[in-house]
Amino acid sequence: MKQGKTRSKAIYLDYQATTPVDPRVFAAMKPVFTKDFGNPASRGHAFGARAAELVEAARAKVAAFIGAKPEEIVFTSGATESNNLALKGVAEIYRDKGRHIVTCATEHKSVLDPLRRLAGWGFDVTVLGVDREGVLAPADVERAIRPDTILVSVMAANNEIGVLQPVREIAAVAKKRDVLFHTDATQAVGKIPFNVAEIGADLASFTAHKIYGPKGVGALYVRRENPRVRLAPILDGGGHEGGLRSGTLNVPGIVGFGAACEIAAKSLKEETVRIGRLRDRLMKGILSRVDNVHVNGSTRARLAHNLNMSFGWVESESLIKRLEGIAVSAAAACATANPEPSHVLKALGVPEDFIHTAVRFSLGRFTTPKEIDTVIARVAAAVKAVRGLSPLYAMAKRGEIEGAVQWKD
Ligand SMILES: *Cc1c(COP(=O)(O)O)cnc(C)c1O
Repeated sequence: MKQGKTRSKAIYLDYQATTPVDPRVFAAMKPVFTKDFGNPASRGHAFGARAAELVEAARAKVAAFIGAKPEEIVFTSGATESNNLALKGVAEIYRDKGRHIVTCATEHKSVLDPLRRLAGWGFDVTVLGVDREGVLAPADVERAIRPDTILVSVMAANNEIGVLQPVREIAAVAKKRDVLFHTDATQAVGKIPFNVAEIGADLASFTAHKIYGPKGVGALYVRRENPRVRLAPILDGGGHEGGLRSGTLNVPGIVGFGAACEIAAKSLKEETVRIGRLRDRLMKGILSRVDNVHVNGSTRARLAHNLNMSFGWVESESLIKRLEGIAVSAAAACATANPEPSHVLKALGVPEDFIHTAVRFSLGRFTTPKEIDTVIARVAAAVKAVRGLSPLYAMAKRGEIEGAVQWKD
């Protein structure tokens, strides 16, 4: 009871790690647990038929949301699995055509780690760098493509710094060279208009729990025409999902995913404008009250939902501790499982000192102006308190030493 109360007062600014399930999504899912509980593979009776009907209705909604055809959607357990299926599935099928794959240094671990495994299996992976704003140049992709390149994988929007990659241009470069293009669109779907046909993606991964749907369900878009993309499955079994993903479907999750897409399709435009205003208010508020702050990542090619800032002389862990009741994250959500400094900020050339002081604020559907004003005040006070304990900060202020505090632009 008490804990629930505390949490309801807490301010959640970690929407890029996960989102709450929208109450409308939850309402759509509820009967699927108890009443419409059938196995969609059991088509011989009404329970199975009803479940199959629900799955296909959801598939149509998910497909429509990204401009795909229903038969181009493969349901998975989330974007991690979708990324694995895309990368390993293409690698296995096209290995006789070539064994070279091109990606980018700021990708999510669920792209970089499968590619590292593929490298161990004899594939050659080129990891391209980004500029100081976090953007990958399509010309760099073009230069990296070789006769034996089979796949280019570049994310649409970054989870730590919100930076948008020029995926349409990159897809065009890949297409020109007859190379498949995969994009991890997990952070783009639901936040910016994302249409696979407009972009020219051959494969795209995304997940329900970042768009107010449930955890444990995601999708991989697999192009059916021009070209028809072939994939080898990772899981073998009953041959569900056109043989690409065996295992009984997560029907409640899939229904929730469909509902989440339907809601996002209607509210995306308005919501993004509103959230962008709140993000700018947060950014300006902090910048006007705190010195020696640096915004990480491009401020132009960026999601409206994200603000990533380094606070000179303030370790992110000590800042976050002082922000009790405000949920933000140090670099990426996996930072606790993996205490290495952020590979994304490293790729931007952010100095090590500033990587350790980076905090990600991510806003979403339920963020209010009042919450933003509270966060601005709390952050300003917390930074002041931490710096007040830092003899180095005092020395730097007096100009006696140089350091991260000098890092600008
Ligand atoms: C969250 C996230 C993933 C992983 O999604 P899961 O559904 O949690 O497996 C992959 N890529 C990006 C960019 C993400 O933000």
